[in-house]
Amino acid sequence: MNAPTMLTDYLVIGAGATAMAFVDTLLSESPDASVVMVDRHHRPGGHWNDAYPFVRLHQPSAFYGVASRELSHWTRDQTGLNAGLYGLASGAEVLSHFEQVMQQRFLPSGRVRFLAMNEYAAGADGAHRITALTSGAVQTVAIRRKLVDATHAQTAVPTTHPPKYTIARGVACWPSAKLPEITRPHIRYTVIGGGKTGIDACLWLLENDVSPDCIRWIIPRDSWLLDRANAQPGAENFETSMGSTIGQFEAIAEATSLPDMFNRLEARGLLLRLDPAVEPTMYRCAIVSQAELAQLRRIDDVVRLGRVRAIEPTRIVLDRGSVPADADTLYIDCSASAIVHPPRLPVFEGERLNLLMVRWCQPLFSAALIAYVESHVTDPAAQNALCAVVPSPERPADWLGMWAVTLANTARWREHAGLRDWLRTCRLNSLTAMMRGVEPADAAKMALLQASAAAAAAAAARLPLLLAKAR
Ligand SMILES: Cc1cc2nc3c(=O)[nH]c(=O)nc-3n(C[C@H](O)[C@H](O)[C@H](O)COP(=O)(O)OP(=O)(O)OC[C@H]3O[C@@H](n4cnc5c(N)ncnc54)[C@H](O)[C@@H]3O)c2cc1C
Repeated sequence: MNAPTMLTDYLVIGAGATAMAFVDTLLSESPDASVVMVDRHHRPGGHWNDAYPFVRLHQPSAFYGVASRELSHWTRDQTGLNAGLYGLASGAEVLSHFEQVMQQRFLPSGRVRFLAMNEYAAGADGAHRITALTSGAVQTVAIRRKLVDATHAQTAVPTTHPPKYTIARGVACWPSAKLPEITRPHIRYTVIGGGKTGIDACLWLLENDVSPDCIRWIIPRDSWLLDRANAQPGAENFETSMGSTIGQFEAIAEATSLPDMFNRLEARGLLLRLDPAVEPTMYRCAIVSQAELAQLRRIDDVVRLGRVRAIEPTRIVLDRGSVPADADTLYIDCSASAIVHPPRLPVFEGERLNLLMVRWCQPLFSAALIAYVESHVTDPAAQNALCAVVPSPERPADWLGMWAVTLANTARWREHAGLRDWLRTCRLNSLTAMMRGVEPADAAKMALLQASAAAAAAAAARLPLLLAKAR
């Protein structure tokens, strides 16, 4: 039976992390707005519901989640490969954070309705239809203000995206989520994929007593990696974190070409690579600790022959050749690409709002900022000027485009008095997290802050030339 039409100000497709960050700020900044959220999953959190059990955030919890509630315990890890650095919430903690936000803030507000286990589709007649996955019941939604698309991330994880290569009968190939189900030793463990999931699978094996000699790692393309020590919150890390931000700006401002810029970034310790002899050809915002990198470098058997095409009982066929394989190998598929290129759309598109990135590698902060702009800026041109879309990175050259848009957006945010104040207090703003505990009377730290503004301006001035050379 079909239910009558629901009426709402905002219909949000998705209840993943970006949708949650958007709605949280919208509730604070638009006190009269009502919201319907719809998601295929049974609870908020999006791809975190499908992740491997040992997944953790890659960046500090201090600036992840929603703006109104802390996710971080503000303690540094004392053990493990993140020791000395601020904590990284586990997947379970991330899900619990979003569940609490939904149950303790969104729903009790009386302004949010959450339709879990439901699918959104626009009808051919333009109607907004929501279908219950369990019963097939269809509801239509009438929107007073905007349709918010929070699905652009299209996050792919191995459990939801099977491998694209063929696997011979009898070969054991598991998604990384199944690793804790291992019940017997294998002669060899072959991890397929060089992204963060692949990194996490290799680290999990090493942490669980698998000798590096038993691990083979297939890396289609090497990525530049960020050093997590350079992205730490808190006053005690301010010199390092702000120093590394300034260092990035200086590397851009001083560079004569893209390769020269990467040399400078690497020389300053701002970018890392797995193998000093291999030039990375990707950049996807991956971040590691130095301890993690040291562990990964213990794996000698790294295969760099492109993507896997087929796994046969005694060999692996790749784009550029094949390698022999032990029969008793457990293959761990980490080939799903967590980052996709969203379509080229503006954030503010008439009656539609696209939750896209407006600061590099910060999707949740971006979603919250978009909610602020939606609440306080009415002119669509002005809204889009504050929220120019930062392209998702893939190739090293994308580093330039990311920074060009990020710096231009940041400069415009500073000119908006309300946004300036919001940025100063928003916990999702990495700069706010870096400034936590910094005394305004601390002249040395304030001088560093001033220096970063000057360095940013110099970098912004240099970027057009580097972008032109990189084309
Ligand atoms: C392992 C891993 C670690 C990460 N660590 C960090 C980190 O430390 N810091 C950071 O900033 N980012 C990190 N990220 C990036 C992360 O992907 C984003 O932070 C964020 O979780 C993406 O959320 P999302 O809501 O945009 O997308 P998703 O999680 O993909 O959510 C989209 C939701 O939309 C729903 N949906 C789609 N279409 C429909 C439809 N038609 N009807 C109903 N529902 C629909 C889906 O069911 C899904 O729940 C990490 C990513 C991965 C994979």
